[in-house]
Amino acid sequence: MTAGNYYALSLPLCTSLLALGFWACWRWRRAQRDTLWMAGCFALFGLGLAGQVLTPPLPLRGSAVVSALLYQGGAWCLAEAMCWRLGQRPARWPMAWLVGLAFVVRIYYVYVGEPFYMRVYALNFGLAAQLAVGTWRLWRERPVLRLERALRLLFGLLILSFLVRTHSTVPASVAVSKASLADSPFWGVLQLSMLVFALLFAMLYAAITMRDALVQLQDERNRDPLTQLLNRRAFLEALKHGDQRRAVGTVLVCDVDHFKQVNDRWGHAVGDAVLQGFARTLQECVREGDLVARFGGEEFVLLLYGVVPKDAALVAERIRQHLRHMDVGLLPPEHAITASFGVAPLLALSQLNQAIAQADRLLYAAKAAGRDCVRWEAEPIKL
Ligand code: GH3
Ligand code: MG
Ligand code: MG
Repeated sequence: MTAGNYYALSLPLCTSLLALGFWACWRWRRAQRDTLWMAGCFALFGLGLAGQVLTPPLPLRGSAVVSALLYQGGAWCLAEAMCWRLGQRPARWPMAWLVGLAFVVRIYYVYVGEPFYMRVYALNFGLAAQLAVGTWRLWRERPVLRLERALRLLFGLLILSFLVRTHSTVPASVAVSKASLADSPFWGVLQLSMLVFALLFAMLYAAITMRDALVQLQDERNRDPLTQLLNRRAFLEALKHGDQRRAVGTVLVCDVDHFKQVNDRWGHAVGDAVLQGFARTLQECVREGDLVARFGGEEFVLLLYGVVPKDAALVAERIRQHLRHMDVGLLPPEHAITASFGVAPLLALSQLNQAIAQADRLLYAAKAAGRDCVRWEAEPIKL
């Protein structure tokens, strides 16, 4: 072991630690399978690099074969991780053929062929081709999220770096690489670029994993788990933090009629299915930007932006009609679900509580009038 060799071990050490980090990430969130692939990628690259540092290149030809396999395995893991993360299918068969071809060419130059440096070309160009072909579908459409776009760009640069780095450093390394790989320009540039890419990938992945965890937590905090609608707090927050000028429209409060009977006659599971179907119906009947929330039990509140109560009452009628045809598999078809509605105007965000209270009052008027109907008021009432 030379002093250079000790120094050269810092990269495999670093990739091994990153592999451990990605593995821990996967243990924490097993659904994110790409972090396991990334752990595999870093572990295999780290092993390959360590092997090459610790064994001299020429006398031990077997080590050159094993290191090629380790690098190709690492590249395969990386291709799988990128495809999983960016929602595309990897092209496994073409990738397998390329892996085989690059391996055979490398073996030829390791055991038979001259010049010596062709084996380096075979491995590096082979890895670039394997990554590019295995993940060609990633380039068909632009990822929607910014971090994923950055990840794809970094991955593209990594593929290019295999070509550029090899082509620009191998000729200068020919003389020294036979004697000591660790001292060659090729190895020095490889170390540096791999370290930079490894750290950039790790940082981007850390940001993506953190973002995903935060989005999941936010969703769990804001959504009703049964219907996936907003809960009361998220509804009020969406209004408060949204565009204040848009917070004008109509509040619609609705409540399923005789819902207790559904639970009592067919059981809680059927009741749950009715609530889920009811929530779906509400969402189908309003526009994309309108707010639909479950305030509790079988009571739902909607905010229809920029709509006057008269038109909102028509939306409520439409919901009522849709409910007649709502298909809840577990419920006998002859039992129609109905609901009652109260509709009140919201002229400013500061009047939200009054508007909800007024709509609530109208809802109970609808219940008193025999249920399955809509009651609305054109003007806000001083409560
Ligand atoms: P009304 O027409 O006057 O609204 O009568 P109702 O039976 O619909 O109203 P009531 O308030 O008497 O009953 C509401 C029932 O909703 C009682 C409660 O057990 C049930 N409930 C509340 N939340 C859930 C839920 O998440 N799932 C199920 N299955 N039932 C629920
Ligand atoms: Mg009810
Ligand atoms: Mg109720």
